[in-house]
Amino acid sequence: KSLKPKYKRIVLKLSGEALKARGSMDNISPEIVHQVCTQIKEVHELGVEVAVVIGGGNIWRGLSAHHRGMERATADYMGMLATVINGLALQSALEQMGMTTRVHTAIRMDNVAEPFIRRRAIDQLNERKIVIFVAGTGNPFFSTDTTAALRANEIGAEVILKATKVDGIYTADPFKDPKATKYDRITYSEALGKRLSVMDSTAFSLCMDNKMPIIVFDMMKSDNIKRVVLGKAVGTLVTS
Ligand code: UDP
Repeated sequence: KSLKPKYKRIVLKLSGEALKARGSMDNISPEIVHQVCTQIKEVHELGVEVAVVIGGGNIWRGLSAHHRGMERATADYMGMLATVINGLALQSALEQMGMTTRVHTAIRMDNVAEPFIRRRAIDQLNERKIVIFVAGTGNPFFSTDTTAALRANEIGAEVILKATKVDGIYTADPFKDPKATKYDRITYSEALGKRLSVMDSTAFSLCMDNKMPIIVFDMMKSDNIKRVVLGKAVGTLVTS
């Protein structure tokens, strides 16, 4: 069987929530982090350059805090800081597995991570380092999905792999509607027209305007990131 990856450079978007084990008090499950990093390693070993954008929803969501009375901008800055915590957990696990990593933060904190510098990130990817983007875009009112859309375009990635809890985009919420069916492929305009929420609207339009393909898939199946990268029919592909 052929093991030629379909993509040379990818952005993997991991939600913070994905790092939390169901029903656990811990925000970050070392077992899940290990599982995810094992998959990243497999993909990297295929020769793919991997950049990761990590969310923070397992620790803090700006909008939820805002709805409970906190000023939105402050709540969002807290959310961005949460992504740094997750990013360091990923970095630690990846390095323990023998990969070289760099964390780029959109909010300066020189003792913890390097400031985001686009050209440096690209150089590091060329040098086969795993680059982890934290602190979102550095701006409140945005999301880490928007960060993924932004960084993917900036570093010339060919695709965004959006790891979620469901294995793709469905005609309706598969948890609520048993008759919902999965799309293997869908266009941006179809997804918009059908009001299927692939990403928030800022992130989605950034992808659509720049023709950045998105693949939505279930990360918890152990081989899935690799299967996506090998071009197997996993999840849903969103393109123009
Ligand atoms: N956030 C932000 N600007 C950004 C990215 C993230 O303000 O550019 C904040 C926002 O409050 C968000 C939180 O960080 O709720 C965590 O990010 P996100 O919700 O995207 O994480 P995920 O859902 O992927 O875990």
